[in-house]
Amino acid sequence: MDIARIAVHESVAKACPLEAMVAALQGLGVPVEVVGDDATFDTSDCVVTFSPREAFLDAAWVHGIRAGYDEFDVDAYEAAGTVLTNSTGIHGDTVPETAVGYLTAFARRLHVYRDRQGDNDWTQEPYDAPFTLTGEQVCVAGLGTIGQGIADRADALGMEVVGVRRSGDPAENVERVYTPDELDAAVADARFVVLCCPLTVETEGMVDAALLAQMRADSYLVNVARGPVVVEDALLNALDDGTIAGAALDAHWEEPLPANHPLWDHESVIVTPHVAAFTNRYHEDIAALVQENIERIDRGKSLRNRVA
Ligand code: NAD
Repeated sequence: MDIARIAVHESVAKACPLEAMVAALQGLGVPVEVVGDDATFDTSDCVVTFSPREAFLDAAWVHGIRAGYDEFDVDAYEAAGTVLTNSTGIHGDTVPETAVGYLTAFARRLHVYRDRQGDNDWTQEPYDAPFTLTGEQVCVAGLGTIGQGIADRADALGMEVVGVRRSGDPAENVERVYTPDELDAAVADARFVVLCCPLTVETEGMVDAALLAQMRADSYLVNVARGPVVVEDALLNALDDGTIAGAALDAHWEEPLPANHPLWDHESVIVTPHVAAFTNRYHEDIAALVQENIERIDRGKSLRNRVA
């Protein structure tokens, strides 16, 4: 593979300013330009993009700037002989810090007070509402870059960490690791269940009414994975009938979440607009991944984070 151009697709602007991304990619010895939906590609192009486009299949290599690549047709990439890489590995601080923020908000009731602040309302929560994270159990479903980052932080906060991973192998700072077919048992004692697995045929609809019914009535669901990992109606019902205590949702079924969606008004729900990974250094993290792979191409080595 010989890369003669890095084409930054304008969809990158969904995650960081285009000019910052272009500046970060300068200096790799390859010309960089911003391209729109009408651009065409050839086998000397590397495309850096947020969203997929069919035309990208004509390029040599497409780099998706997100960890999840569920929107990309991996089979089509393989059939076209186009290399596809993703951005797994760079979210080990951002998303875990956001997840700890949700947990802390729920335990210390920060989301409630922030809401009341808008009304100059001094009302204090009932005595039995606040609790501490210390000693509470969190179940981390998906022990990759993000899951490990959450486990490390939760452990440092004195929480009991259990996790779910396909292999069931032990993980650092995780007291018990379950396999996906033991998910019921994994969530049963947890005060928080955090979803940070990819969206796949196995994980789609993984959190359904039956699983929610296994969770504690005082537990919170956190979804920093993808919306369809959770069955939407099942979650809404579980929140309404008190099957669980609340949820923090960064990933949604439809994005943006429609303005009339009932979750917006749910007192016990924190909605964030798919920003758990946002950071003012995102362009640098992506550029470092692209640079590493350009160097690997030059040395004839296999690419990091290759998914097709
Ligand atoms: P990663 O590839 O490092 O880790 C994913 C882990 O999930 C892997 O260890 C994988 O084996 C495991 N897994 C797969 N199927 C599973 C299952 N059925 N049960 C339990 N674990 C399973 O990826 P990552 O960087 O940790 O990101 C994980 C996911 O989080 C991404 O695929 C993406 O969908 C989502 N994500 C969301 C945001 C956001 O802004 N909210 C940002 C980055 C990533």
